Amino acid sequence: MRRQNFGTKSRKPVVLGIVLGLFLSFIYCGNDLFLQFESPKPSQSFGTTGSGHIQNAKRLPTNGPNFETYSRFGAALGRNSVHQKVRKVVLESYANIYKTNNELRFVYGETGWPWGGDFYPHKTHKNGMSVDFMVPVLKKGKPDTLPHAFWEAWAYKLEFDKEGKLEDYVIDFDAIVIHLNALAKSAEQNGLQIRRVIFAPDLQKTLKKAKGGKALLRKLNFSKGESWVRHDDHYHVDFK
Ligand SMILES: [Zn+2]
Repeated sequence: MRRQNFGTKSRKPVVLGIVLGLFLSFIYCGNDLFLQFESPKPSQSFGTTGSGHIQNAKRLPTNGPNFETYSRFGAALGRNSVHQKVRKVVLESYANIYKTNNELRFVYGETGWPWGGDFYPHKTHKNGMSVDFMVPVLKKGKPDTLPHAFWEAWAYKLEFDKEGKLEDYVIDFDAIVIHLNALAKSAEQNGLQIRRVIFAPDLQKTLKKAKGGKALLRKLNFSKGESWVRHDDHYHVDFK
């Protein structure tokens, strides 16, 4: 009897270890694995970003030479899914920026579920046409990525002042101009358009002072008032 008890007890840590190992593997490479088995069927968006859904959405890759996901866990769950054309535009613009400004680093945020629909805590992101982009930053004058650990709600909890400063980090407004121009150009080449950009109005004033900022604010439809949550750590882009 004693030997049997001993055997049952000793298996518990092994089982827990296996479960933990599987969970960590899912977090680390779940997104890459799901991408391997992606359906070749074309994406189809229905309704609007605020009331719609999507079929055959495509996940964004976990990372690339100059970009990474806001969260490997979020990506493994599929919270980085978009319409295939939106994915093409996002990736093409990162690739184009890499050719001209390879020092810049980007982090994409949440986009939507693979099936679309309600996407808590966001109010939109329902039909695969919305993407959050974390603000590119400079740390001690050099391009860096925003800290996006889960205890900071993957960067969504960070608070920048109206000049775009937060401790050692300052928003790289020049990089935002470069990024949004690249997105707009790629969108046009792929039959899409940027419908609107949501970014905190006080930070838009600082963006205006960046190189090419004025022209960008004229070209794209930026949010005018305050939105339900301050968009200071990220800018939200809706495509159409
Ligand atoms: Zn958003």
